[in-house]
Amino acid sequence: TYVVTDPCIKCKFMDCVDVCPVDCFYEGENFLVIDPAVCIDCGICVPECPVDAIKPEDKDTDGKWLAINTQFTAVWPNITRKGTPPADSADFERETGKFEKYFS
Ligand code: SF4
Repeated sequence: TYVVTDPCIKCKFMDCVDVCPVDCFYEGENFLVIDPAVCIDCGICVPECPVDAIKPEDKDTDGKWLAINTQFTAVWPNITRKGTPPADSADFERETGKFEKYFS
């Protein structure tokens, strides 16, 4: 599976959503996740992300992002079309450690 990782947080450009053939993205206020149980590993969404937030599971060495994607898939709504990114998306493109700052 692929997973959405830290760069997405507070950027949420959502270009990935329109290309997913199995509609497995879920949307929170400032972050998207992939349902790992539905993703078919096609990789089409990866180059769509302007901040390189989508990673294959094997790059997620400690399983942190797999757990986060699984957790939020269970509670956030499914999204099948790109929406409007936050107005201040660009302000957060280079910030790191966003999950720890904004989700804990
Ligand atoms: Fe969807 Fe393919 Fe991306 Fe998985 S890798 S989330 S199936 S576009």
